[in-house]
Amino acid sequence: MKILLHICCAPDATTAYKRLSAEYEVVGYFFNPNVHPVEEYIKRKNALEKLSSAWKFDVFYPFYDPQPWFRAVKGLEDLSEGSMRCKACIAFRMRQTALAAKKMGFDAFATSLTTSPHKDVNFINEIGAKMAKYVRIGYIPSAFRKKDGFKESVRYSHELGLYRQDYCGCTFSLRKVRR
Ligand code: SF4
Repeated sequence: MKILLHICCAPDATTAYKRLSAEYEVVGYFFNPNVHPVEEYIKRKNALEKLSSAWKFDVFYPFYDPQPWFRAVKGLEDLSEGSMRCKACIAFRMRQTALAAKKMGFDAFATSLTTSPHKDVNFINEIGAKMAKYVRIGYIPSAFRKKDGFKESVRYSHELGLYRQDYCGCTFSLRKVRR
């Protein structure tokens, strides 16, 4: 089975890729128009290029355009992390990944977001399944942080010297950590 793996960042992709590629043919999809500013987006992209070159797998990098993402979270800007804003953000990225996977002829899609201990795994898998049904493609549910998956991702990141960000990604989460 050919899987398109939505990759949120290189550190989270380590565990996700290792586990999925043991069973499937996996190609990455770095779709994160939520990341702000563009310099940060480039840092995260460069980290993923480093990982994919070390581990020899392909990744698609769709054009970075934050405007549709801002529209997807419009009216939710002032909410806190883990709120409806994050649900809208994740749903937007999952929907686009599902559509891209379908368009490119993949059998299913998955996401590296479940490596993070800060994300709502149940919501991610629910929305992934919904988008899969909507697009008529498969979805591989996951909880990569389980069985020490997060610890593993930290270890791989150190070994490979990958950049590890200190905020989730959007301008609202950046403001919170830099306050
Ligand atoms: S905090 Fe993270 S998940 Fe929430 S809206 Fe911002 S980038 Fe998206």
